[in-house]
Amino acid sequence: MDTSVLIVGAGPVGLTLAHKLATYGCPIRIIDKNQAPTDLSKALVVWQRTLEVLDSTVDIQQFLEHSDASSVHGMIFQTSEETLGQVELDGSEGPLPTGVFIPQSATEHLLVEKLAQQGIHVERETELVSFTQDDHGVVSQIRGPQGDTTSVTSAWIVGADGAHSKVRHGLELPFDGDTIERRWLLADITVEKEQDPHFMHAYLGADAMLGLFPVGAKRWRVILDGGPGARRGDPTEQEIQDILDERTGKNWQITGSTWLSEFVINERLVPQYRVGRAFLAGDAAHVHSPAGGQGMNTGMQDAVNLAWKLALAQGRDDCEQLLDSYHEERHVIGKKVVAETSQMIHMAMVHNPLLLKLRAFALRHATRSEWFKSIMRPKISEIDLNYRGQSLARTAHKTKGALQPGDRLPNLQEGDGFIYEKLRHNGATLLTLDVDPADLPQKLGAGVGAMPVHAVALNPDGALAQELGLPSGGAALVRPDSYIGAIRHNMPEMHSWLESM
Ligand SMILES: Cc1cc2nc3c(=O)[nH]c(=O)nc-3n(C[C@H](O)[C@H](O)[C@H](O)COP(=O)(O)OP(=O)(O)OC[C@H]3O[C@@H](n4cnc5c(N)ncnc54)[C@H](O)[C@@H]3O)c2cc1C
Repeated sequence: MDTSVLIVGAGPVGLTLAHKLATYGCPIRIIDKNQAPTDLSKALVVWQRTLEVLDSTVDIQQFLEHSDASSVHGMIFQTSEETLGQVELDGSEGPLPTGVFIPQSATEHLLVEKLAQQGIHVERETELVSFTQDDHGVVSQIRGPQGDTTSVTSAWIVGADGAHSKVRHGLELPFDGDTIERRWLLADITVEKEQDPHFMHAYLGADAMLGLFPVGAKRWRVILDGGPGARRGDPTEQEIQDILDERTGKNWQITGSTWLSEFVINERLVPQYRVGRAFLAGDAAHVHSPAGGQGMNTGMQDAVNLAWKLALAQGRDDCEQLLDSYHEERHVIGKKVVAETSQMIHMAMVHNPLLLKLRAFALRHATRSEWFKSIMRPKISEIDLNYRGQSLARTAHKTKGALQPGDRLPNLQEGDGFIYEKLRHNGATLLTLDVDPADLPQKLGAGVGAMPVHAVALNPDGALAQELGLPSGGAALVRPDSYIGAIRHNMPEMHSWLESM
């Protein structure tokens, strides 16, 4: 084999996968047909759950303190005449914000830098042309910068190659779903009047929806519903200004623009994330409306889920259940994200006068309620996702605490800091209560991909030990993606769970 994993595509998803696999010591190659990473702002928010899953191996402060970044505090719902309400999205448990506004170009840049520190460089101007697979491996034809085609053999191939994925086409998988037959416009603008960079604005008047999102200190992203019908060409700055004046009551005066574009919204999901030795992640597997800013985040979390499984499966042929669990755990989430973002965008596209009144009434009341915030914050930041009941989390053992296998480990205070500070390493974490050090397991998995297990002795009176319901001598295994893998009341049971991986 030339490499273990050939990653096709160095967008945020391919880069995240490459970084995590390299951290676990898994040999990779990562190719991209483009000459350079994107310089477009595209995805503007990195939500809390994405920050958390990166945190174990990436310096998250680089995202939070980036010159173009600001933390997410909330969203203001308006019409051109009035403010309907404001939902506060800050106040997350633990030290991380609910999300950070940061342009996708900066996110990619930080990931490329991290990869370079690991000695991995994206092979640019290198395109996947075709591939075949059998029981033993994958043979890919790739075309390099000089136009020459060469073969690469790998144990697995991952298509992180975006919405028009060659890998998905090669697998002959359908990309089922719909296209919303409306013209959408986007513009990255600078504005005259300084605005609070911690709040998004949604103008939901009678005309049509318009959203404004901060991109760094003085730039804003406008996304707006340009009405029914097909594409008519990219908008001009004046067209955007006219619509802004109409829908926001002249609150936003443009002083310049860096990106003016039109787009259509596709809502599509592939039926299988895994076919044999090929996997799909990110936009190659799911595309949907930008409402809620979930696309890149969902894709980066796909990558984090897949990375540790591929790393553990190196050189083994007894990891079918583990590898299948990638589709099992992530496809259901892709489906949910496509459905929920579709609901959001259809709510934003309401035109019927009665429904408009109803929406305004609902927003006025919902934004005043703590209940709305308590639902919105975990949902939008993706910390409410879990893999409960899926095959890796199934357990015959009754757990006594609120937390169950498959749950995200909450970032609770533990000792002098927060528990996620103790997950910063290249393996799994065992949270223990009064366990004899001699009984501690050293490894998750077997063979070349086996990962270290780092033990953390919990404070018996701490919130985490309580939430896990651990008795003395018990332990909880936290997977490398910071979901709870297993909770066991004694170490022999934990050892057998670890040996089953
Ligand atoms: C205007 C806009 C706003 C958005 N806002 C948000 C947001 O706020 N939040 C959010 O989470 N998401 C948002 N998104 C979505 C987000 O940009 C995508 O979900 C994200 O880029 C997907 O990342 P990816 O790595 O899967 O694919 P991509 O970023 O598309 O990267 C795929 C890479 O694969 C390469 N490639 C393709 N084919 C081949 C081949 N045959 N060989 C080699 N390389 C290949 C491409 O060159 C590309 O670099 C937005 C998107 C747009 C357009």
